[in-house]
Amino acid sequence: MKWANAADHGARGIIELSPLDLPRGPATYRADTLDDWFDPDSSLKRLEACLVIGPTAAAPLFTGAPQTLEYLLKRATPECKPCRPGSFPLCPKLTVDAAISCTDFDSRNVVALLRGSHSTLKNEYVVFTAHYDAIGPTGGGACDGAIDDGAGTAGILEIARAFSLLETPPARSILFVNTTGEETGLDGASCFAKEPPVDIKQIVANVNLDANVMLFETTDIVAIGAKHSTLASAAEAAARGVSRKLVELRCDLQGEGYFARADNFSFVEQGVPAVLVCSGQEAASSEIDNGPDRFIHWVRDVYHSAGDSLDQDLDWHAGAIYTQFAALLGAAAANGEKRPAWNPGNFFGDRWGNAARRGPSSAR
Ligand SMILES: [Zn+2]
Repeated sequence: MKWANAADHGARGIIELSPLDLPRGPATYRADTLDDWFDPDSSLKRLEACLVIGPTAAAPLFTGAPQTLEYLLKRATPECKPCRPGSFPLCPKLTVDAAISCTDFDSRNVVALLRGSHSTLKNEYVVFTAHYDAIGPTGGGACDGAIDDGAGTAGILEIARAFSLLETPPARSILFVNTTGEETGLDGASCFAKEPPVDIKQIVANVNLDANVMLFETTDIVAIGAKHSTLASAAEAAARGVSRKLVELRCDLQGEGYFARADNFSFVEQGVPAVLVCSGQEAASSEIDNGPDRFIHWVRDVYHSAGDSLDQDLDWHAGAIYTQFAALLGAAAANGEKRPAWNPGNFFGDRWGNAARRGPSSAR
């Protein structure tokens, strides 16, 4: 959204500054903005360059600036809201010389349907998603993506298996979707949400499994984005079901950023209330000290690296609790009397929810 806003205000290009150097070189093109260039209606087409650069590449740009890059990076944290720096011009000129090559290839979402049991509500759908692609090879070796998002992919299969064994399926129908191309810019999910196999107005909720950070047992669990809609009560019920406390993601993990960075956001953009399920951080056992620190260490040092493999220390039971929580959350949405709805005045609902959701209301 920031990029489109800048384009609308006449920016010629945008450089996003990553707090860490990038694994594949000093600068990269934003893959999702490349997608927009193929979309004839995208305002991003007006931008001549959309780069992401790390601190090493950015340092020369701050020559002669009123504040140093190091100082800015230290202050640009969520905890430091009152001391965020204002804007100022940078002196050096930047020339962008980019080589972009495009190759067409097919990649598929894998979709399964479980028909709902209620005579009318079966025409509405709750969608579970998890992406089966991973970052792929980097300088540090292949990134298998065991947690991101092998854990979610396996979780969807397990939820589908469990639901298929129920004597009475949930009232609403369930779509189980393993998406492709998440890491390249939510491609599979956005393709699915823009052209779903059922009427988008009949898709009532999305539960996305893409943060099963199964390192240790926790006393808590997180449903990123649930607070924006009535899915909050489904999340509360699901947390009770797994005897975990429903909490917000710690602010230094920038929970709101994750909500807009994962497959669930493709559903939000089509007006569908959505949740990104995330592991908790408070360790259940006193033998694990500093649960939140271990979680943050994983996010900062292992996420999207070759370390996210089956060789890391995984807690399978913690992974199962996460998956059960996601299953119960989806079941609560599928069995609720009313279809999930954005909260009144909610930003996401106001921006995307109303236009797409003029379907009939569906009280049982
Ligand atoms: Zn992921």
